Amino acid sequence: MTEPETISVAADVGPLVSLGLPIVELSQETRPPIMDLSPEDLVSWLQSVGQPGYRAGQIRRWLVQRRITSFEQMTDLPVGLREKLTQSFRFSPFEVVGHQVARDLTEKLLLRLQDGELVECVLMRDPDRSTVCISTQVGCAMGCVFCASGLLGVKRNLTPTEIFEQVLVLHRLMKDDERITNVVVMGIGEPLANYKALMQSLTFLTAEDGFGLGARRITVSTVGLPEKIRELAQSGQQYNLAVSLHAPNDALRTEIVPVNRNIGIQDILQAADDYFEVTGRRISYEYVLMAGINDRPEHAEELAWLLRGRNAHVNLIPMNGVNELIMTAPRDPDTQQFLMILEECGITATVRKRKGADIDAACGQLRLNREIAKHG
Ligand code: SAH
Repeated sequence: MTEPETISVAADVGPLVSLGLPIVELSQETRPPIMDLSPEDLVSWLQSVGQPGYRAGQIRRWLVQRRITSFEQMTDLPVGLREKLTQSFRFSPFEVVGHQVARDLTEKLLLRLQDGELVECVLMRDPDRSTVCISTQVGCAMGCVFCASGLLGVKRNLTPTEIFEQVLVLHRLMKDDERITNVVVMGIGEPLANYKALMQSLTFLTAEDGFGLGARRITVSTVGLPEKIRELAQSGQQYNLAVSLHAPNDALRTEIVPVNRNIGIQDILQAADDYFEVTGRRISYEYVLMAGINDRPEHAEELAWLLRGRNAHVNLIPMNGVNELIMTAPRDPDTQQFLMILEECGITATVRKRKGADIDAACGQLRLNREIAKHG
């Protein structure tokens, strides 16, 4: 195995898909995570161990709403049942192996899945909201040149439970008077490339007998897969859609987002327009600003021209540094100038506030650090 000492990816080379890392040894654990069971499955299991079905409601309330971390703590269940649950199921599909708290109280978790793979999720606190950011895949196949998540390629899709349980594990960390108000699917992976599991997890998050969050409080961020954007529009739910654009023309976008070669900006914009038409939800366009690459005034003008007449919002994101990459955020005046040009052209835009600046906040950076340390 070659040692991945430093990984440097210049803007003009393709993604590093595989570093030839060894497959992680599978754990001996065979108990399924309890949340893999639907409410009906849980009732059947209870009956199979001689317990009344109504206990399913009690168990799910503990798992979804209360902030406990073991079956032991389900104090209104008979001790025998608590033991049986512990023998039969895992409380959670993952172990927390890293926990960082930033000065602004942003918290980031590194989670180890049953097969040893790692993913990340983040809790961001604002005075009026608490937003969690969740992952959908182990790694990512899209290969965006500025993103830590794709540097090692994609390993596998997350299961529905592995996706929504990130919300539950962060919820359990919060104080009693705190609530999660928003979910953004902007962690590791391309959510629309794991569509079925994504939809199942969002169904749980929005269900009355699930986490009970309004669909309008959930944002799905995508590199821009037109077919899947249209499928999402047909789900009948008002999820917010964020499209990661990052460039105002195909030539530049294909350098920054290699999968663009087979898609093209126009197809993505049309799918996003359809999404707006069906759902009535304004589309956000994310634009990661990288010094000297896509941050020039002419890029801003071209972007404004591209989005003219659309009910769109541009989210400018000064690039978060990734240790292994050479690209950097523009200087503040350049970011402000970019913003001003968009606004002068009548495009609504904001610069995303940095959260958790003193922890490894760039998407996938924690996992990448661990993978490199493990195999390096
Ligand atoms: N694959 C999806 C969702 C995950 S990435 C997508 O492409 O949208 C979520 C957002 O974080 C995207 O807009 C992505 O471009 C951005 N992002 C990734 N790496 C970043 C970095 N180093 N700095 C700033 N934003 C980054």
